[in-house]
Parts: sequence; C-alpha cells; structure tokens
Amino acid sequence: MKKKVRKVLVVNSGSSSLKYQLFDMETETRLAKGLVERIGCGGPKDHAEALAKVVAELGDAAKGIDAIGHRILHGGEVFKDSALMNKANMAKARKLVKFGPLHMPANLGGIDACAKIFKGVPNVGVFDTAFHIATMPDCAAMYAIDPKYYKKMGIRKYGFHGTSHKFVTQAAAAFLKKPVSKVNLVTCHLGNGSSLAAIRNGGVVDTTMGLTPLAGLVMGTRCGDIDAAAVLSIMEAEKRTPAEMDTILNKKSGLLALAGSSDCRDVCAKAAKGDRGAELALEMLAYRVALYIGAYNTVVGGADAIVMTGGIGENSSEVRERIIGRLGALGVKLDAKANKVRGETKVISAKGSKIPVVVLPTNEELMIARDTVKVLAD
Ligand code: AMP
Repeated sequence: MKKKVRKVLVVNSGSSSLKYQLFDMETETRLAKGLVERIGCGGPKDHAEALAKVVAELGDAAKGIDAIGHRILHGGEVFKDSALMNKANMAKARKLVKFGPLHMPANLGGIDACAKIFKGVPNVGVFDTAFHIATMPDCAAMYAIDPKYYKKMGIRKYGFHGTSHKFVTQAAAAFLKKPVSKVNLVTCHLGNGSSLAAIRNGGVVDTTMGLTPLAGLVMGTRCGDIDAAAVLSIMEAEKRTPAEMDTILNKKSGLLALAGSSDCRDVCAKAAKGDRGAELALEMLAYRVALYIGAYNTVVGGADAIVMTGGIGENSSEVRERIIGRLGALGVKLDAKANKVRGETKVISAKGSKIPVVVLPTNEELMIARDTVKVLAD
C-alpha cells in the first residue's frame, strides 16, 4: 500500500534565492515558511548549501517530510501535468533548459539538492506552463510563421503562471458552486509579472504570455505585446545584440520605463500627484487588461466570472477600478464599496453586473503541495 503523503515541503529554487514552505496536507495548514537569498553571490555557494540552511532553519520540523514539490518554470510540450521527477523525467526536463537558461538550471538544481539531502523522499515537479499547454488549442498556441520554427525549435505559445491560474480556477469553481469541468472564466493574475487566461470548461484555451513571459500585458519591467518590427528597428538603429535587447524588453520596459518605477504602488502614488507618465502607464495597463478580458470572454463563450488575483489584482482597488470601468460593453458594473477589499475573496461587481468580478487570493505554494499529493496518490 502507498504511504500517505502528509508533510509536504514546497521549494521554489530560483537563480539566486530559494523560497520554501512546509505544509501539513491533512489540514492544508502551513507549518513553516522561509527564504534563503544571495545563492552564489555572497550567501550559500550553491543550491545544496542553501537547502542545508533550510534544513537547519526547520530543525525538528524537517523530520518526517513525506514528499517535496518543486516549482519548475518550463515543461515544454513534454509535461502537460505535474510529474514525479525520477531519473527519466529529470532527463526530459534537462532538455528543456533552452526555454529558460536562467531559471531551469536553478529549478532542477533544487531537485538534485533535495534528492541528496532528503534521501528516499519523492520529488514532484510542478510546471508553470503545464496548465496552459494541456488544453490550449493550436489556433491559439501557434504563431503565424513558417512551421519549421515550431518543428525545429519549439517556437509556440506556452504561457506561464499556470499554477496560479489553476489554483484560482479551482477556487472560483468552488466559490461559484460549479464543477471545475463546467466553469468558464477569465482569470487575471496581475502582479510584477502579469497574465490573463481564458478558461473554458475548467481548462485553458488561451493565455497572454507566449514562448516566454514577455508577451501580453504591460508589466512591472516587461513591455508585453509589441510589434516585432519595432524590436528589429531598435536593434538596427542602436546596434543592439539579442542579449541587450532581451534586457531592454524584459527588465527596462513596462511601468519602469513609462513611470520610473516597476512597483504599482509607486506608480499609483505618482499618478495621484498628477504625474502624466504614471497616469498614462496605469491607463495603458488597464486598457490592455480590459482589451484581453473582452477577447477572452468571447473565446470562452461567455464567462461565469472574471477573477482578479496577484499582488495588484488582490490589493489595488485603483487598478481594478480602472480596468472594470472599461468593461461597460460587457455589462460589467463595479460595486465601489466592495472594491475596497484587499487580499481576501470577495465579489466586487455590483448586483446588476452581467458577469461577476471576484477578487481571489492566489496560493501557488498550496497548489504545488496539492499537486504533489495528487501525483503520489495516482
Ligand atoms: P506580485 O508579483 O504578485 O507579488 O505583485 C507585486 C505587485 O503588486 C507590485 O507591483 C506591487 O506594487 C503591487 N501591489 C501590492 N499591493 C498593492 C496595492 N495596495 N496597490 C497597488 N499595487 C499593489
């Protein structure tokens, strides 16, 4: 008989930090939480050393861990669901490093370190792309370029934040008292990185991020959608290398470029003082979210709800108001009083709104822990 999985450690092993949470999955309660920083740059020398620090921090709590769940950036087309990271799956995942040269080695390094330190404890990989690619149809996933680039290089839309979109899809279905397999939603994960997903019958049919997290919405430091020819023009005029251009588009664009800060709170404060760059940045952000909500409402065949989550979606009544104010044509109306909510589940649309809008705090770590339990039970 399979051993019951109760104590689950969730690890998010990044390029320079390692975040962890420990759960008792019988009650879904968090037992511990922490962060090890500056890996390889003044702190621990590698992920194994970082993990040894975690074990020391956890003390007695590190005893009796039944399983470890890991956040992994990219599952390519190989991983359509979370998976046990045995030798065969680790080998498959290593072939996907090209899709995330910065994050993937760190994510997989975390698994290697756990395999060494927690001997015999199973490691489960939870991929940020899996929820999207499991159900996204080709008409949404493919780019209109020569198909040889898809065949040779895997150039297509994958989507990210899948763990968050999956969590809020399940939570929204429960909130709406509908089976997950029958729920249609537009889920809006708005944070430092942002993406929307179109959910039809509980599965993704489109999402705003693409081959990489650069596409779609206006984000903290990413530009989101842009005419590819504009990128080529800049590269040509300024003689930029692909790596330099990558930095410009991923790290020096978005709110940071438009308003001088990548933090939405700063941008809101600047706009309130009359800063025109900040005002335009917020309007661009809200416009593009509203644009995609309209499109995705069509794509899902009419949404049962619009869900707002992520740091901005959960906390910023101002940004939510700017977005919802643009949804009049869908019959969506805001309840200004309810919209004051921060960080808790609440309907923020008015009674007569044709589509309810729900604020729903995401919990990616809990989703990873749940998937870990599920993979090991299957
Ligand atoms: P995340 O990446 O999900 O942690 O979200 C981070 C973003 O949420 C940052 O841009 C924060 O400025 C933003 N945020 C958090 N709280 C608020 C708030 N009360 N108002 C506006 N933005 C907020």
